Amino acid sequence: MESRIERIKEQLHSASYKLTPQREVTVRVLLENEEDHLSAEDVYLLVKEKYPEIGLATVYRTLELLTELKIVDKINFGDGVSRYDLRREGATHFHHHLVCIECGSVDEIQEDLLEDVEKIVERDFNFKIKDHRLTFHGICHRCHKEES
Ligand SMILES: [Zn+2]
Ligand SMILES: [Zn+2]
Ligand SMILES: [Zn+2]
Repeated sequence: MESRIERIKEQLHSASYKLTPQREVTVRVLLENEEDHLSAEDVYLLVKEKYPEIGLATVYRTLELLTELKIVDKINFGDGVSRYDLRREGATHFHHHLVCIECGSVDEIQEDLLEDVEKIVERDFNFKIKDHRLTFHGICHRCHKEES
């Protein structure tokens, strides 16, 4: 956790930003809830527990900055809510999501699995792939169990 904060701090520094206490609190909340896909509002409520005097606008600006620096990815699962997802260290492409249409849970696939598809797209469309978003919609293993 501390070493990841250090590296995020360096990323901010190399873009001429400081890791202010408000920004650090926000980064910590994202790290502590790495498996979740928090909206700006969710992040704000968690940050407020640690730093009561912080405002929503500050948290929002920090999230936008982290998005701009590609420390965080902004995603939308079709419910109109922007969610913030930490990029995994060393991952060149964004991870995939499994969204359950029954319970709304979101699971992650960290493995890329798309090498073959990417090769075909690059070859047939002469398109250099830099990143992608892949969301599967279906029924998760937990809901599956209840059904049978
Ligand atoms: Zn995710
Ligand atoms: Zn990929
Ligand atoms: Zn489910």
